[in-house]
Amino acid sequence: MKVVKFGGSSLASGQQFEKVINILRQDQNRKVIVTSAPGKREETDTKVTDLLINYATLTIETKPTNIVTEQLFNRYLEIANHFGLEEDKLQTIKEKIENLQYEKFENNDYLMASFKAHGERLNAKLMALILNHLGIRARFLDPEKFGFYVSDSANNAQVLDETYANIEALNLTDELLIVPGFFGITKDHKIATFSRGGSDITGAILSKGFHASCYENFTDVDAIYAANPNTVKNPYAITKMTYRELRELSYAGFSVFHDEAIIPAIEANITINVKNTNHSELPGTLIVPEANFEPENLVTGVASSDRFAALYLHRYLLNKEVGFTLKLLEILYRYNVSYEHMPSGIDDLTIIFDKSQLTNFKIKQLCQDIKATLQPDEMQWINDYAIIMVVGEGMRDNIGVLDRVISPLAQNNIGIHMINQGASRISVMLGTRQADANLAIEHIYHNFFS
Ligand code: ASP
Repeated sequence: MKVVKFGGSSLASGQQFEKVINILRQDQNRKVIVTSAPGKREETDTKVTDLLINYATLTIETKPTNIVTEQLFNRYLEIANHFGLEEDKLQTIKEKIENLQYEKFENNDYLMASFKAHGERLNAKLMALILNHLGIRARFLDPEKFGFYVSDSANNAQVLDETYANIEALNLTDELLIVPGFFGITKDHKIATFSRGGSDITGAILSKGFHASCYENFTDVDAIYAANPNTVKNPYAITKMTYRELRELSYAGFSVFHDEAIIPAIEANITINVKNTNHSELPGTLIVPEANFEPENLVTGVASSDRFAALYLHRYLLNKEVGFTLKLLEILYRYNVSYEHMPSGIDDLTIIFDKSQLTNFKIKQLCQDIKATLQPDEMQWINDYAIIMVVGEGMRDNIGVLDRVISPLAQNNIGIHMINQGASRISVMLGTRQADANLAIEHIYHNFFS
């Protein structure tokens, strides 16, 4: 059997629902369907999840909610209308949207989580209603009812192990199971969501629990590309890649598939197939285990992310000083700050951070503390730091790849601030200034894919 997940743009309108239903009809193995909340119908549209975040915020601030509740209901109604489903069949959806604001929650974090989760929950209900209306056997499966347990982190939950046994215990018949993505239930029955884009995670967990032969992930691009199409024109569409290639590329910005969603698939050795709802006849991209993988190209993908910052420290004889790094790490520990990489030389050390965990105030305090404790001869906070990842299973057994990564940058006068040949031996990581990152990607890409 296959678990099939449809993203927000695949379920944004009646027309999109129709494509999804055709896809379901084409393959009897598609048994378990995971829904996202309706996404954007066009560029300027607002996702239902964002409308719900707005609704939650208005509720917390005790401001009027009538406009947003109407907008929300209209999104579902418009889809139902497309299939000629009468409005009174949507009564429970309407009431749920109306009543969310009067429910009691442990705190505002759980209020937010519960509001957000209803984007997918109501969409799954609507999907089941429409399928039944069209004479297709299908039923809404409530994560609360079958024990889709997650940890106590309201808006950034992790699955609990016992969920897998609860999925295994579910009976598969010829009836399609429609499961809302993005959320689960804590042990004390509160709704908690995964991080944004987390319906991918639900699909992966269900795939593992059901021992699926394949996890199909339908989105709005034909494939995962070897470089970001906004940076490189018509990039190569990857037909097959390994889990760890995707992990490394996701780290530096590949976002077609949620990076946390790869883990359950890896644990259960399940092939992921990223496909396009709008061109379902295309093969898409397969994400597979490493064993027996034959790389098509030396490099599989090139990605960059500018969510980084770096702290450069210089101190003579740093390499001889016992405990320097220990003191540094103790300071980071005290500030509850993790670091990403720490390339070092004889007198120099650079620490690279993910900026999303830092505020300007925290950076200032941290730097002051490091300066006072470690007394470096030179210290510099580099805020505009980008990391470029060049990834490919084919790189491992080939000599000279590093030269092909670096030489186009040297030829084009692009400065490299850090190089790290990943311990996995399937990636090279480069640090550059943010302003240089896109150009660097273009040149590296063309050196491997011309
Ligand atoms: N609807 C949620 C979001 O927008 C989850 C998802 O689409 O996967 O983040």
